[in-house]
Amino acid sequence: MESVIKLLPEFLANQIAAGEVVQRPESVVKELVENAIDAEASSIAVIVQQAGKTLIHVIDNGKGMSTDDLPMALKRHATSKISTVADLHKIITLGFRGEALASIAAVANVEIRTKQNEDSVGYRMLSEPLKSEVIEPFQCDKGTQIIVKNLFYNVPARKKFLRSDLTEFRHLSETMVKFALAHPNIRFTFSDNKTVIFDVKQQTLTERIRSISGAVIADNLHEVQHEKDGIKISGYVGSPSTAGHMRGNQYLFLNNRSIVSRSLGFAISQIYEPYIEKNSYPFYLINITVNPETVDVNVHPQKHEVKFDNERAMFSILQEATLKALNTAHAIPDLQQHQAIAQQPFSPYGTDKQMVNRVTGEIISSQSNNTTRYQQNDYKQQSFNNQTDNQQTTRNFTPNDLTAYEALFGKNEQTVTTTHSLFQNEEQSHDVWQIHNSYIVHQTQNGLHIIDQYNAHLRLLYDDIMENSAETGSSQELLFTVSIPLTSSELYITQESEQEIKNLGFQFTLQEQTLILTGVPYTVQSGDEENSLKKLLASLSEDISVAELDKKRRIALAFARSNAVRSGKKLTKEEMNSIVHNIERLGNNPISPTGKPIFISLTLEDLLRTFRT
Ligand code: ADP
Ligand code: MG
Repeated sequence: MESVIKLLPEFLANQIAAGEVVQRPESVVKELVENAIDAEASSIAVIVQQAGKTLIHVIDNGKGMSTDDLPMALKRHATSKISTVADLHKIITLGFRGEALASIAAVANVEIRTKQNEDSVGYRMLSEPLKSEVIEPFQCDKGTQIIVKNLFYNVPARKKFLRSDLTEFRHLSETMVKFALAHPNIRFTFSDNKTVIFDVKQQTLTERIRSISGAVIADNLHEVQHEKDGIKISGYVGSPSTAGHMRGNQYLFLNNRSIVSRSLGFAISQIYEPYIEKNSYPFYLINITVNPETVDVNVHPQKHEVKFDNERAMFSILQEATLKALNTAHAIPDLQQHQAIAQQPFSPYGTDKQMVNRVTGEIISSQSNNTTRYQQNDYKQQSFNNQTDNQQTTRNFTPNDLTAYEALFGKNEQTVTTTHSLFQNEEQSHDVWQIHNSYIVHQTQNGLHIIDQYNAHLRLLYDDIMENSAETGSSQELLFTVSIPLTSSELYITQESEQEIKNLGFQFTLQEQTLILTGVPYTVQSGDEENSLKKLLASLSEDISVAELDKKRRIALAFARSNAVRSGKKLTKEEMNSIVHNIERLGNNPISPTGKPIFISLTLEDLLRTFRT
């Protein structure tokens, strides 16, 4: 009988392995940079084109390869990093499986240039899938350059699976940022097309964080230093104030390898929980150093996930380390003293429908019906179960109360207008005030509204764009066109959403990496054209949280966001009046396009109940 089980030919085996190791341009860059780090490079440059789809070029100044090693590098299971089973259990290099280069060479054209220090001349090897490699002497600097062209050109199914340039670029940037933060002693240069995304010289970790993550984070860091049971924790955690709505600013490294661990991430988040808003994420960069024999990095082909011998111990040591850092820095209120806050961050405020967040001072209304995104049960349970709360809310307001109130103070309208007119002249007597440059207080028929100026303005702009943008071309032509050089991510965003951006009223053409602006929406003020477009692109690039919205909504939201008045901005009476006037038309429970309340109302009944019962 003929045997049916055969060994796979090497090339086929490599292509199958490539399916696991090489998923997108980012995976290629990750493998190549890891190799450069393993080769002890002190400077690594990564140049890509079209987010790596057409070209990836990685240059290092590491130890290079000899002519003998060169053809071996592309062989499957060829590695210089381990040779015995014992080695496998104490891996200190980033690579060890010996399959990255082989896999990449099975799905792309690869060129390797390399020179070792002691050699007078270097070598170049050209490789194409299924063809034998060509090696020739080549003049180059010490170190290695690997050039990967036309990724997946011979695997159409894979190629089709690649996402937009913007998405692929985001993956690339994320990985490059992680490398840069994990290895501040290495200079990293990263450029896409003709734009330099970053170029960071060798520096200390805090300097590196400043270069990569910005001053706001760098100015609010607390050092972490902790050691227990052979586990060393070091790095920096941010003050609770660094918590943003994006998860991106959280980095965990295990023996210098970036890792993803839900449980360890949770260990740190739990410490912050009482001090930050729900669904916000503080900055941290934590290096865990352990004996390599106690972890298994070989559980995942891309080595993102790792297994520890003692995950529970790691969990609590990480919590101790974080707490110690924050406490030493007095970055958070004393834990003992604030146990109550930790258990019940929201206390009832006004009616049983409103609460104030004791940590942030934010007032939250649960009156809003299910059109809001708030999960009411989230905080209801925490806040309404205790005795005093119930007592506060059981007594109902009676008409007698109002009569009594009026007897004392006169009718509401009179009282307020008289006091008010003492301070304001006749024609200005609009009943609006701005407090803390963030909220508009507005007297209503039977009480008052406190309006969040940002949420309100965001909604008005958003509605306006959704109703009026569209294909009508509500655009003003510019007298002089403006040339705006774009960064890579700006270019990709523009390409991805060209029509939608034009529908807002921006008119432009793209010439390579430059945008030629010829018209802007009517709402854009003269002199603010470039800025307005740049703000829109920035807002779009930040924005991944609303990915579920359709494109038109996403762009409308980004444009509204980039133009809405921020909290902290002083408003004129006219501006406030216009906001109040327009918001009133939206009914009782308007919400912002992101699902947040726009105002809370306090009725005279609420006030009466609060002060008289
Ligand atoms: P691994 O990193 O798992 O050993 P790779 O396929 O990534 O496997 O690389 C194979 C071998 O090629 C490495 O073990 C190393 O000897 C050599 N190599 C790859 N890239 C470089 C580089 N940038 N500098 C020096 N040697 C390299
Ligand atoms: Mg490798």
